[in-house]
Amino acid sequence: MTAGAADTADIVVVGAGHNGLVCASYLARAGLDVVVLEQSDRPGGALWWTDWQGHQLERGAVEHSAVLTTGIVEDLDLARHGLEYRTRSVAAIHLFGDGTRIVIEETAEATAASIGELSVADGRAWLELAEIGALLLRAYALASDGWIPPPQVATAFARAVAGPRSRRLTDLTRMSAAELAQRWFEHPVVRSMVMFRAAFSSVAPWTPGSAAAFLLTVAGHGRRIGRPVGGSRAFVEALTASAGAAGATVRCGVTVDAVRRAGGSWRVHTSGDKTVIARRGVVSAMAPRPFLLDVLDGALAPRSRRRVERVQEVVDNVSQLTLAAAIDDPLCLPSFGRTELDAGAMWLLSEPSSATEAYSAALLGQLSATPATLVTFPSVADPGAAPAGGATMWADSFTARQLHGRPWSQRRDEASEAVWRTIDACLPGVRGHVRHEVLTTPDDLTGKNGAENAGNHVAPIPGQLLGARPAHGFGNHRSPIDGIYLTGAGTHPGGGVSGLPGRLCARAVLDDLGLGRTRRQRGADVVRQTSSSFRAARAVGR
Ligand SMILES: Cc1cc2nc3c(=O)[nH]c(=O)nc-3n(C[C@H](O)[C@H](O)[C@H](O)COP(=O)(O)OP(=O)(O)OC[C@H]3O[C@@H](n4cnc5c(N)ncnc54)[C@H](O)[C@@H]3O)c2cc1C
Repeated sequence: MTAGAADTADIVVVGAGHNGLVCASYLARAGLDVVVLEQSDRPGGALWWTDWQGHQLERGAVEHSAVLTTGIVEDLDLARHGLEYRTRSVAAIHLFGDGTRIVIEETAEATAASIGELSVADGRAWLELAEIGALLLRAYALASDGWIPPPQVATAFARAVAGPRSRRLTDLTRMSAAELAQRWFEHPVVRSMVMFRAAFSSVAPWTPGSAAAFLLTVAGHGRRIGRPVGGSRAFVEALTASAGAAGATVRCGVTVDAVRRAGGSWRVHTSGDKTVIARRGVVSAMAPRPFLLDVLDGALAPRSRRRVERVQEVVDNVSQLTLAAAIDDPLCLPSFGRTELDAGAMWLLSEPSSATEAYSAALLGQLSATPATLVTFPSVADPGAAPAGGATMWADSFTARQLHGRPWSQRRDEASEAVWRTIDACLPGVRGHVRHEVLTTPDDLTGKNGAENAGNHVAPIPGQLLGARPAHGFGNHRSPIDGIYLTGAGTHPGGGVSGLPGRLCARAVLDDLGLGRTRRQRGADVVRQTSSSFRAARAVGR
């Protein structure tokens, strides 16, 4: 991280979450003078960790797989800046209090066999959905390569070209996970797994569109899965070093209060009354709603402002919390006889009904007694995360954003107790070896990165996806105001450690400044995108 008071820059990036850093890196590599301003005392945003007696305790994201398939790690030369990944092929194991297990294996066939031990029909349904999910994944990739259409346009295109078969896919993407579970699967354990999976995007399983999150899970077979050696710290440090090497400046402990037009440039006002002049534009890498409504200081036309005011950040009051722990004996950790499973993600439900109970409790502003919880032990794949003879745990539970009655600050012990209840039911024997724990509530997460929805910035619901993310008129990483750009989890393609919003935003800035693709290349890209989409849609129709 470099310090120093730059008063002017070509581009100011607001927020040094991983997307802000990725965007800054691409812009600096294209020759622009870039300054990133970050309110926290270090970059990373939702990639957040705490050190305790040699243990690196992760408080935000842990799985960094999404970025592995993008080429960003290679583009930004992150290996040269010390980044190394440990990958595995098996995605996850689902565990229940009665000992039931489902393994999400490398291939759809192997996962179907695992599900088939509970229900042969459900195994077959998994295979069928994996095929449909692969089409969705392909359509999503095509829709992200060039101009990003709003959801209605993408749907209308698919229907016009692919005909009735596309209806099955588009209907599924608009369904709730609960409906998909009920229509496609018969076994209660499998149904509960579907509903739990939908929660990964912090939406309740009855929310329309939540089935899409599950479809992307079934489509994910065979992709690279992994975490950086050195955890989130290593990723953030490599990104920061890469941005610095390209010439960008990252300044931490600087909150951007207001962005105002000043002739042809922008004045970026920060805490401490310092101002940075952005000569060619400003990129917001913070959550879009507070940036556009508060920081942009009345610059939006009333119609645009109303659109942003309607953006839903949190739906059904669903949020998440993490519980990280330092453990004194690695032998107490679960062992499945397969290293990949021991090191991977464990999705825990005390009972199948815990999946829906957790979201009902969130909706009512209550704490679930046995929250649906995702657990992993980062030190298993990355022994450097703990001192010799120790281990680390990371648990992520889906919970209420706002509690009814007493606030989060008064219910920390109760919340942590509930998470342990789930862990004890599915992974007995771990808790007795905890030496230190750190609970990170939804309030803590919002306090850290300024986003009401810390993981996604904007809820991933049908009207807020693709070219309509975060809102109509604000897609394709541009705002209606020239020179103001948007990146981060609240822009396409959304939350997760992918870096894609950062790269796509950089491309928009460079194109507009005449430093990216020429007009002719952009035209050729649109033709290529349209013809690939046409071919893909025809393939669905056959
Ligand atoms: C608990 C949790 C667990 C998760 N687990 C995973 C996981 O395992 N795998 C996965 O792929 N994804 C996971 N996610 C999602 C993923 O972490 C996020 O989608 C992603 O990190 C968002 O990155 P970002 O750069 O878009 O935004 P952020 O990380 O939110 O960064 C925004 C930055 O802007 C800064 N900022 C805000 N306001 C201002 C201001 N006024 N001035 C200056 N700076 C400002 C913030 O401090 C922050 O650093 C998880 C999220 C959470 C919350």
